[in-house]
Amino acid sequence: MKIEANKVVAFHYTVNDGGPVPVDSSRDRGEPLTVLIGQGNIIPGLENALLGREAGEQFEVSVAPAEAYGERRANYTQRVPKKYFQDAENLRPGMSTVLQTQEAGSRMVVVHKIGSSVIDVDLNHPLAGKTLVFDVEITEVRDATPEEIAHRHAHGAGGHEH
Ligand code: ZN
Repeated sequence: MKIEANKVVAFHYTVNDGGPVPVDSSRDRGEPLTVLIGQGNIIPGLENALLGREAGEQFEVSVAPAEAYGERRANYTQRVPKKYFQDAENLRPGMSTVLQTQEAGSRMVVVHKIGSSVIDVDLNHPLAGKTLVFDVEITEVRDATPEEIAHRHAHGAGGHEH
């Protein structure tokens, strides 16, 4: 069965950004990532690389920033009251954290500077501007259920838990 829209794919991956250690790996968690294809649930460059492949295939793909987390924007910082951070007291400059906003939902930011009542954050995604190299092993391809298509995500192990 080939990967296309409305298939659910389970795959192991390791991703590198050129640094000394991988950025992330599904193997550290012991179970593959499970995604519904065709809904933008993963970055476009990785989804496109999966299309047309089948279970058992292994490949490496290099994804440019435009197809991953976008280019870095200069001076893309914002001053935010500490109350919007769950873990404000433990944050240090350079650390990544999740900012909860009513307008934008939750988003990953990098701490830039810490004041007494506010924190300056860099709104660029931590992986913005980086070319990412994915090592992928496809473990399963199946049809999505009507419920998964309605929810726009995969259910079950490695997918969305309700
Ligand atoms: Zn669901």
